[in-house]
Amino acid sequence: MAEFQNIIIIDSPVYDNHDTGGGTHPETPERVRAIRERLNSGPLASFLKWVEPRPAARKWLMAVHDESYLFRFEEAVLAGQTWLGHQDNQICFDSFDSAVMAAGAGLAGVDLLEKGAEKLVFCPVRPPGHHAERAMALGFCFLNNIAIAADYWQRVYDRQRIFILDFDAHHGNGIQAAFETSAAIFYASIHEHPTYSFPGSGYAEERGLDGGRGATLNIPLPPGAGDDMVLEAVKEKIGPALENFRPEALIIAAGFDAHEQDDMSGLDYSTILYSRLGGWIRKWAGQFCGGRVLSILEGGYNPQALALSVESYLAGLAYDKM
Ligand SMILES: [Zn+2]
Repeated sequence: MAEFQNIIIIDSPVYDNHDTGGGTHPETPERVRAIRERLNSGPLASFLKWVEPRPAARKWLMAVHDESYLFRFEEAVLAGQTWLGHQDNQICFDSFDSAVMAAGAGLAGVDLLEKGAEKLVFCPVRPPGHHAERAMALGFCFLNNIAIAADYWQRVYDRQRIFILDFDAHHGNGIQAAFETSAAIFYASIHEHPTYSFPGSGYAEERGLDGGRGATLNIPLPPGAGDDMVLEAVKEKIGPALENFRPEALIIAAGFDAHEQDDMSGLDYSTILYSRLGGWIRKWAGQFCGGRVLSILEGGYNPQALALSVESYLAGLAYDKM
């Protein structure tokens, strides 16, 4: 019998306080508001349980970021600076608190998955994280939410092998950099080819370094690539990588800016593709991780397309007939 699982949504009003200056900046509070509105009024509403995160403790941030960078970020915010490192990374007085809460959502998600009965957690956070490096903000990202959650999951709950799948349109350079010498944390990313797309990394030849060689998998797609190429990559490359790695925990860098109505990439994914991805991820989670999946929002800059894509993804994750 078909069954629809409940999903925990970890959300905070603090995310709305991260003001990127208005005007033309695409990373706006409207993104998470559109997700909330759609999830609360759409067909999934009765299956969702909304939970508030707590701010991430400094020691978990410092596993992934230099303390001097954290001070620099905090000081820039308190001093009233309007950007950090590059004008893409707009900040306001509340941006540090928003970023620390976004990182905290991932940690709360790990705790719930380890201690609670629910198996699916989605964190619609902002600011996003996958471009943030150890000592550098990049591409609207300040703290690497996914890397911080992976490190926490490994250290606190002794999960030895963690698989991170990133389906944002852009390569998650910061996640790759955090774990490229680690054989215990596998990073797989499907993204628009770096020749055409920000941040310019994520070539297929990047397979990890030193002891982590083989635990990085980059699948760059040409501009215009759509559902077929993604599903082929999932079947031919991601699935076999998971079979081979046999993860104990699964984290998804869930970015939706490859959608055909999103101007941030040349990729051309349909809304329904995200259900298909959710279905594959549910299958893998069941096979390796007791059904548990932690998904954390990355990009997605057309608020309406983003909200519908998130709903589509969650439906695929939760419903065993998708
Ligand atoms: Zn992106």
